Amino acid sequence: MDNIKFGKLKEKALEYRQRAIKRQLERLKTSVPAPRRPVKVKRGKMGRVKQIPLKKLVKKADTLLSLFIRARDKRCALCGSTSNLTNGHLIKRGKKPVRWDESNCFCLCSTCNFRDKVDTNYHGKYVAWFIERYGVEKYKALEKLSEVKVPSIWIREKCLQVIEKYGKLQS
Ligand SMILES: [Zn+2]
Repeated sequence: MDNIKFGKLKEKALEYRQRAIKRQLERLKTSVPAPRRPVKVKRGKMGRVKQIPLKKLVKKADTLLSLFIRARDKRCALCGSTSNLTNGHLIKRGKKPVRWDESNCFCLCSTCNFRDKVDTNYHGKYVAWFIERYGVEKYKALEKLSEVKVPSIWIREKCLQVIEKYGKLQS
């Protein structure tokens, strides 16, 4: 490349630079925000937006609800203990429709919560406690609700709601 050509290129580059500066100054004057770069979204195969794995959402929702229940009740519903508190599900958490239902969750100490593994009658005490407090109708309603079959899209949606609701309470 000869010097003349190089000089012209340099001139052109300077011109572009000056124009860019001028544009920036004009934008400042009129205070129009500079165009934003589009937000990059993670995409998987087929160009679909990658979803957070359901397992992760379930875990997060469980944790946040447990924190809420423990803060709400403060002591074990069955023995009154205030240590090693957990979120005890009246109807097993395998039943997704009531897994994140506040009326199915009470504070239990870990001993009481896992005692039914060695003492099969122990869960009956929990049920009796609930019925005495809220009535048999409420228990039956919970049981009926727990039997509803829910698709994974419902679980995903529910988890997102739970995370939104109890996450806000935490912050
Ligand atoms: Zn207990």
